[in-house]
This record gives sequence, C-alpha cells and structure tokens, in this order.
Amino acid sequence: MKLLYRGKAKTVYELDKNHVIIEFRDDISAFDGKKKDVIAGKGEINARISSILFEELNRNGIPTHYIKFEEPNKIIAKRLEMIPLEVICRNIATGSLIRRFPFKDKTVLKKPIVEFCLKDDRYHDPMINEDIAYNLGISNEDEMKKMKEIILRVNDILKKFLYDKGIILVDFKLEFGKDKNNKLYVADEITPDTCRFWDRETREVMDKDRYRKDMGNVIEYYREVLRRISA
Ligand code: 5GP
Repeated sequence: MKLLYRGKAKTVYELDKNHVIIEFRDDISAFDGKKKDVIAGKGEINARISSILFEELNRNGIPTHYIKFEEPNKIIAKRLEMIPLEVICRNIATGSLIRRFPFKDKTVLKKPIVEFCLKDDRYHDPMINEDIAYNLGISNEDEMKKMKEIILRVNDILKKFLYDKGIILVDFKLEFGKDKNNKLYVADEITPDTCRFWDRETREVMDKDRYRKDMGNVIEYYREVLRRISA
C-alpha cells in the first residue's frame, strides 16, 4: 500500500483513488512532540473508540470521513484534502484555555467555546482567525462558519452519547477535510488523545492528560472509555 502520510500517532495509506486506510499506532506524544512514548495496545483501543464515535455521528447525519473499522487498529475513510486547522470545542474551562485567559479551572462555560488553531507545531498551533486563515490560503469565512456549525452539532451529539455512558465531554479537537466538490467532512480521529473525558461521578481524568501530567494508568483509562461506550 502506498504511504500517504505518517503523523505522530497515525499512518495514512492509499486504498484507492477515493479512499484511505488510517492505521492507529501505539505511539503517544505531547508538547509538540517533545514528550514521546509507546503504549502497547493504544492504537487498537483508539481505532475502536474512533469508530464507535464516528458511527454515532454518521447515524446522526453529520458528514464524516469514516466508512468502516478494519481489525485490529485501522479504519477505512474517504480520501479528502485536509484543512490544516484544529477546531476545538470546550464545555468546561481547563487546559490551555485557563493558561491564556482568566477562567477558573473546571468552570462550566455559559456556552461552548469554539476556537480555530493553525495546525503547525513550529508555531505551537496558535489561535487563528478568518482573516489570517484566508491570507494564508487555508480557509475562508464561509467555510469556518460551516465548521463552527458542524462542531457545535457534534458537541451536542457526543456530549449526550457520552454522558449516558458515564463520561463528561470536557473539550475536544476536530479536523476537517474537503472532497472534490468542496463538501466538508469531519475527519482525523475522535479519541482520548484528542478529547478530554472525565468520569461523570468522580471527575477522574480518562484521557491524554494522564500522559501529559504523568498521572499513570493511561491505557487502563483508555480501555475503560472503550468498555463504557461499547456497552
Ligand atoms: P488545549 O487547547 O486545552 O490544550 O486542548 C483542548 C482540547 O483539544 C483537548 O481535548 C486536547 O486534547 C485537544 N487538542 C488541542 N490541540 C491538540 C493537538 O495538537 N493534538 C491533539 N491530539 N489534541 C489536541
């Protein structure tokens, strides 16, 4: 299979003209790749979690790149032109938000915050606006408005789905791609690497913050997320 792209935790292969195979690897990294490790089994768990969450979005009419799961750690997806933006949606203030703005840690936000960031480690994924994105040739106002509408719908769907499984969706990051007709799709992955998940009862961290903050038991909590959403 032809290799198209190797990222920090996933590898993308060409399947045919219109489809790709995305392999979820056991690599984990943080702080723009400065901290790196391998966690056995993470790739398979993340491929499974991503599949379940994309299936839930597809069921709810959200256009996503996801087509099907391939045992044990891959998904087949639509081949798209990726937009180099990280679109973030937050329900609770934490992480980089409280480092950059005077929000108190763990406050429930009055309404979700959507942020656009440039996907570029060299610049530490800085927040970007419509004018900067347009001038960089990355996106435009109309497309960013559509991405904001989609991520807010995704937030409503996943927040409810996860809450019913005992998980609070604190915040998450999406990436979007476009087909030849410029139609937008949610792409990439939706996993504990790209979302903050807290236990609904205990507020225990069940996501990559366990790795970022050396809290331990990373794989055990990822496995627990998978167990709950599979039930
Ligand atoms: P924060 O801006 O607070 O660091 O992250 C907000 C949310 O977006 C978190 O759920 C975090 O996991 C996700 N996120 C933001 N930037 C990145 C990134 O570069 N890579 C990954 N995997 N997730 C990110």
